[in-house]
Amino acid sequence: MSQHPNAVLALMSNDVLARMQPHLDVVPLESGAVLGEPFRRIPHAYFPHSAMNRVTVQIRGEASGISLAQFAALMLEISELRKGVIRFEQYLFAQAQQTGACNAHHTVSQKLCKWLLRMHDLTGPVLPLTQEFIAYMIGVRRTSVSDAAKTLQADGLIDYHRGTIRVLNKTKMESQACECADDLRNQYRDAMLAEEVA
Ligand SMILES: [Zn+2]
Repeated sequence: MSQHPNAVLALMSNDVLARMQPHLDVVPLESGAVLGEPFRRIPHAYFPHSAMNRVTVQIRGEASGISLAQFAALMLEISELRKGVIRFEQYLFAQAQQTGACNAHHTVSQKLCKWLLRMHDLTGPVLPLTQEFIAYMIGVRRTSVSDAAKTLQADGLIDYHRGTIRVLNKTKMESQACECADDLRNQYRDAMLAEEVA
């Protein structure tokens, strides 16, 4: 495995990355940008270097872009790349199923903790996120996010100031997050680190 910041590209050997590198351009991604499905946008496929869900960039950062025609050619040529993309699709599918169950059974505060932990894992303790955006990402009303964030701040779990959340107490946050956080991490591990794709 390589040290590439994109989860799929990190699975690739250095040989494969070296073959892809001449075709990859690093492009900036704005928070909230909608790219369409990763790997399928026309005319470019993107491999984000930071957090995004199926369609939305969660925290601004960069991506490696490649023309779709070139990507298709490389997929045909390199089985390792094909397998990496399939694994990532399996992870996204598991994540979507998990999210449905979570929405039905857990409180806004539990979901907020879970989601902040996931962002924390991906980008560190300082998260440039507005309440509107968080509300959109976890699928609840902005006022619900505001209430939950106030409580978390009063309890010393976060500092929320001018659109930036700083996670102050990760351990306490883990104890309050719904268990879906661990499920997602396990699914991610299973999907991305499996030896072979069935
Ligand atoms: Zn949940």
